[in-house]
Amino acid sequence: MFSGGVDSTAMLVKLLAGSDDELRVHHIHMANQERRDSAERRAVDAILAYCRRHYRPFRTSESGLDFRALEAIPIDYLSIAFVACQVAIDTPRCTRIAVGSLAADTDIENRSLRQRRVFDEMYACYRARKLGEPKVEWIYPVYDQPKSALVAALPKELLDLTWSCRRPLEGGQACGGCKACRAREKACIEGLRGPAEVAQNRAS
Ligand SMILES: [Zn+2]
Repeated sequence: MFSGGVDSTAMLVKLLAGSDDELRVHHIHMANQERRDSAERRAVDAILAYCRRHYRPFRTSESGLDFRALEAIPIDYLSIAFVACQVAIDTPRCTRIAVGSLAADTDIENRSLRQRRVFDEMYACYRARKLGEPKVEWIYPVYDQPKSALVAALPKELLDLTWSCRRPLEGGQACGGCKACRAREKACIEGLRGPAEVAQNRAS
């Protein structure tokens, strides 16, 4: 599951460079009141093109969840669980789902548990119809690494393509103040990357 942020980009590079696993990289266009989907889409397209050029071929797909008419922001990890189930069923021989969660993410153990609970319940419904593989495991390839280490390890050109901001400004610039922007800035400073990498490209 690929968002176009630093964590899932680092995960993708790790899986491409460090394994022979046959990968299907799936991005969800999450449209909601935060209006970050167009910036993410641009980041995703650019990152996947870069990774194809520099690593190895892989399958990609996208889907969309449009909640722009709602005031509330849906919980991402639940949307991811829902879509991951559809993608797993849609992918022949799929036995693993990789997500870029980090140990340092807020309340991550509970969130991951709930995410898998939603997935497991849905997946069981498909299994009742004899669809999908008997077992699907969730894996967390970059879980134990601090975000600063992920930032430090990514090629500069690739890091520049990633998008973190949850609430881009009207003109499409990163807000600089949301939780994701602040985590990115902190990681870039700790990972000794320059201001250019902290800055995210404009969304439009
Ligand atoms: Zn932001």
